[in-house]
Amino acid sequence: DAAANRIAAGEVVERPASAVKELVENALDAGARRVDIAYADGGKTLIAVEDDGHGIPAAELPLALSRHATSKIDGSDLLNIHSFGFRGEALPSLGAVARLTLTSRAEGAPEGATLTVRSGTAAPVRPAARSTGTRVEVADLFRATPARLKFLRTDRAEAQAISETVKRLAMAAPEVGFTLRDISAGGEGRTVFRADPGMGPEALPARLRQVLGREFIENALAIDAPREALRLTGYAALPTYSRGAAVAQFLFVNGRPVKDKLLTGALRAAYSDFLSRDRHPAAALFITCPAELVDVNVHPAKAEVRFRDPGLARGLIVSGLRHALAAAGH
Ligand code: ADP
Ligand code: MG
Repeated sequence: DAAANRIAAGEVVERPASAVKELVENALDAGARRVDIAYADGGKTLIAVEDDGHGIPAAELPLALSRHATSKIDGSDLLNIHSFGFRGEALPSLGAVARLTLTSRAEGAPEGATLTVRSGTAAPVRPAARSTGTRVEVADLFRATPARLKFLRTDRAEAQAISETVKRLAMAAPEVGFTLRDISAGGEGRTVFRADPGMGPEALPARLRQVLGREFIENALAIDAPREALRLTGYAALPTYSRGAAVAQFLFVNGRPVKDKLLTGALRAAYSDFLSRDRHPAAALFITCPAELVDVNVHPAKAEVRFRDPGLARGLIVSGLRHALAAAGH
């Protein structure tokens, strides 16, 4: 019901960037090869995410907007999650705190369909022209909940948060093409970020070049370190490379961008022989492990992980990086 959705919305959607995160994750879950994101006024007035994924059958559009309806898992296997989404909360939450328009054409369907929800109330499904894939528009986020609107920062700060969210997801999915546009001034808008779809083993370094810059990838070591059931891959900067005060430390666990203090500490330890405490080694690291060794279900929006054995994950990063640094003569 509407009240429950509004409460859930507070958990899942804190700000425009969290809406973008949910929508882009849905696009990736749908097997998209391209994801185009546009926003106006820091995402406060409009967020639009369009993909070329498998789409949603017209008959299932209302279901996609109902609470706890997820097509992704049956609920019995919360430990074994391979998709980003599994709660079925994002779309109903957004529908409760914004005007949400969902337009989609399922693979093989003769035409598309569209549905708009406003403050939790859905209009009937109508036919709509579009190619296979989905477009979700979120208009006037939090306009009906002024208390939440008040907590948003400036358009510029919200836009910055959107950009960071998109870049993190772009690093997690290097084989997918992304565009991010600011359409505040109308028209095609201004391209904020663009990354071409990559292929094969070159996809990740190419994507890191697009996100973190050529300097980073040219001064980075490729990491590949196994430890027990865990494996660490990715790129870490040479101790000689500095981004000044800018922090560029990214961790992905089983393909999900996560924010975890574990990474900062482990990086500091790995580079302790080379860097003073005020230097931040740049790295984009990926841990893969059996799903039961990590809990991603800590909070719907916070992107936290909990390793069953945090010491093991930390040790893997420290030793994996030290090893790579030593092999490179450091
Ligand atoms: P969850 O991702 O946890 O399943 P959401 O509320 O984010 O929940 O989405 C609800 C459902 O809507 C999804 O399970 C999926 O079936 C469908 N859906 C949402 N976005 C897309 C998309 N971009 N492409 C295809 N299906 C989608
Ligand atoms: Mg989702």
